[in-house]
Amino acid sequence: MAVKSPEAYRQRAKSMKPRVFMDGKLVEDITAHPVTRTVVEANVASYEWALDPEAGKVLRRPSHLTGEPCNLYTTLNRSPEDLVQRAAAGLYAAANLGTCIYRCVGCDALNTLAATTFEVDRDLGTPYHARFLDFLRYVQDEDLSVAGAMTEPRGPRDQKIGEWKDPDLSLHVVEKNERGIVVNGAKINISGAYACDWTIVMPSGARRPGEEPYSVAFAVPNGAEGMVYVCQYGPHAAERLLADDPWELGNPRFGQRETSLVVFDHVFVPWERVFLCGETKYAGRLVARFAQLHRMVCGGSCKVGFGKVLIGAARLIQEYKGLEHAPHINDQMTEMVTLLETVRACSKAAALEGREEVPGSGVWFPSDLLGNVSKLNVCTAFWRMMALAGDIGGGVVVTMPSLKELKNPETRAYVEKFYGFGSDASAEQIMKVTKLLQHWTAGLHGVGTWHGAGPVQAQKIMVQRLTDYTEMKGLARRMAGIEGEPPQTQETSP
Ligand SMILES: Cc1cc2nc3c(=O)[nH]c(=O)nc-3n(C[C@H](O)[C@H](O)[C@H](O)COP(=O)(O)OP(=O)(O)OC[C@H]3O[C@@H](n4cnc5c(N)ncnc54)[C@H](O)[C@@H]3O)c2cc1C
Repeated sequence: MAVKSPEAYRQRAKSMKPRVFMDGKLVEDITAHPVTRTVVEANVASYEWALDPEAGKVLRRPSHLTGEPCNLYTTLNRSPEDLVQRAAAGLYAAANLGTCIYRCVGCDALNTLAATTFEVDRDLGTPYHARFLDFLRYVQDEDLSVAGAMTEPRGPRDQKIGEWKDPDLSLHVVEKNERGIVVNGAKINISGAYACDWTIVMPSGARRPGEEPYSVAFAVPNGAEGMVYVCQYGPHAAERLLADDPWELGNPRFGQRETSLVVFDHVFVPWERVFLCGETKYAGRLVARFAQLHRMVCGGSCKVGFGKVLIGAARLIQEYKGLEHAPHINDQMTEMVTLLETVRACSKAAALEGREEVPGSGVWFPSDLLGNVSKLNVCTAFWRMMALAGDIGGGVVVTMPSLKELKNPETRAYVEKFYGFGSDASAEQIMKVTKLLQHWTAGLHGVGTWHGAGPVQAQKIMVQRLTDYTEMKGLARRMAGIEGEPPQTQETSP
């Protein structure tokens, strides 16, 4: 069976020696460091689920290459039903982790490469697809965790790449030889790569002729020579570094979404791991396909999983406070559920209306329009849910004292009395749920959810581009009784 044990991954993570820096210091052991180990734990959970009889129904499916049962995060979507399962996996993972499943971007990158390498080979006779399938088989056989890296620091957005003072602001090939390529540059905001076995690197946007070195995709093992990971750092990381009691942190085991800048300083990649190199025409298609898939999951069902936890925490607080019958609170709960279910419906519909992208590739992608609509809904829905849950939680969501007061003989009695709200629940229970609400409403999730899977303007442009206004105008003309042929205006995208 290609599904491997959580212990096997844990052992590999223990032996990984990437150069990781956080808070100005080298992280010696990613499995022991209070912040980086949350990434390891989230990946461990993905191995646990695949072996669990119930969770495995969502997180496991056969390899199309070998027929062996695999972790879903190493497999391709080969039908609308597979896309539905992919969306369900995103929901399951998010609901159970409350953070990223760090194999998510990599999984969508594997699917994107499967379709795009097929297309490039078909058009140009290149050898990428067979190489890619060898890599995919290796990932599946060993049940490896794969991160995905697309976003780049980039230079001034109003200039072309060639006009930037520093060419490294976008990752590019600096040398080619008979053994492989050497790349320079960086990827930014990359989820969990320092704890994944491999990272798939993709171009960050469309490329023009003349930008061949920037049209490159490949896979690179954890901590390859020349790679440096500079971790995000904020109040939540600082709190985790200081905390001796993880229950202070709202989501004790899995924490916040952890990313890093991944620097490539003359990193060598052998040809067998290079899946695009110079074919500029295909860089934009690759990025578009990745976005198409990722918006259904990261921009859709994943946030439904997060939202379920957020609503659950708000509901518990509602009950602890004796507000079950308060009409406006129930109205707020209904609004949250409605927003959540709208996103879930959009994401599922995107899967069901999926189609084979690059005919003959055997890889299916969700409806682009519905995936983008799903992500756009998420952006506003999640902020709204954060606001509503914050209202229900009250000011204590941000004023809660430390749980350590429950062990402090001088304050314990006061805290137990005044944070118990006279309910049947203990002050400790109420404080833990309130800390969880703090994690969701006063943390990194608002901006994270907004930007993850691409900035909002990108989705708006896609919605404009994909909407069939011609059909809608025709309907309106007919209903209004406007006779004759419509004037031949071309619908243009912005
Ligand atoms: C929690 C989290 C996890 C992530 N994980 C990953 C990951 O694993 N892998 C990965 O590859 N990426 C990841 N990302 C990156 C994510 O996809 C990007 O943050 C997102 O695409 C937005 O890009 P940006 O951050 O560079 O913002 P920007 O592109 O700088 O956007 C900021 C604003 O500038 C505008 N803007 C940008 N360029 C232009 C332009 N040319 N013209 C006009 N307006 C412009 C945008 O519309 C937006 O309003 C993650 C992000 C987050 C927050």
